[in-house]
Amino acid sequence: MFGVPDSVQACLFDLDGVLTRTAAVHAAAWRQMFDEFLRARADRTGEPFVPFDPARDYSDYVDGRPREDGTRSFLASRGIDLPEGAPGDPPGTPTVHGLSERKNELVLHRMAEDGVEVFEGSVEYVRAVRGAGLRTAVVSSSANTAQVLDAAGLADLFDARVDGLVAGRLGLAGKPAPDTYLAGAKALGVLPERAAVFEDALAGVAAGRAGGFAVVIGVDRVGHRRELLEHGADLVVDDLVELLEHE
Ligand SMILES: [Mg+2]
Repeated sequence: MFGVPDSVQACLFDLDGVLTRTAAVHAAAWRQMFDEFLRARADRTGEPFVPFDPARDYSDYVDGRPREDGTRSFLASRGIDLPEGAPGDPPGTPTVHGLSERKNELVLHRMAEDGVEVFEGSVEYVRAVRGAGLRTAVVSSSANTAQVLDAAGLADLFDARVDGLVAGRLGLAGKPAPDTYLAGAKALGVLPERAAVFEDALAGVAAGRAGGFAVVIGVDRVGHRRELLEHGADLVVDDLVELLEHE
């Protein structure tokens, strides 16, 4: 049923890029923030300005990870070592926290301007599995998960939520570690081998694979099917509605 093994009792959904059309918003915000930083740095040091690649760099270093981990991971890929700074650093300060704050400021601004669009096929899928008695949770690295779910009108479709704030409170390692997905299954009272993971990020499918879930379904919105399979997806769909077509 629903493209998952019959033993599955719960479905764990990533948010950005799986349920909501916000992955592009994040990619654009990461790009603007890093390019502002990299350009200023190039001007100062005389080294060439090499912009952030919103496809490759986004996918390899930041997508799906907690915000500060994304910042660290991309900077490390360029051999740039910045001080950590602290939460509350003014946005744009050349620290891990300051750059991360700037990225968040850009995301929130864009969402406030444009609103949050959902993938209708995903909403249809979530309603269908709930109608069949499966339990559902959102598992996202985003600290803005509650606001995004509310803005998208999706809040009542989930029995549990493990987001960036919950992960911080519980001290859970972010994706690609499996901890947040495991916490999602636990919150639903279901063993990982009885739960399905739905993810669009390479770090996210890797988290699902590492957690020993019944099935990891990759959602390919940007043409990275092969990479999703390589990082741990058992199958890849373009949209969750495909999983309903055989019912
Ligand atoms: Mg995602």
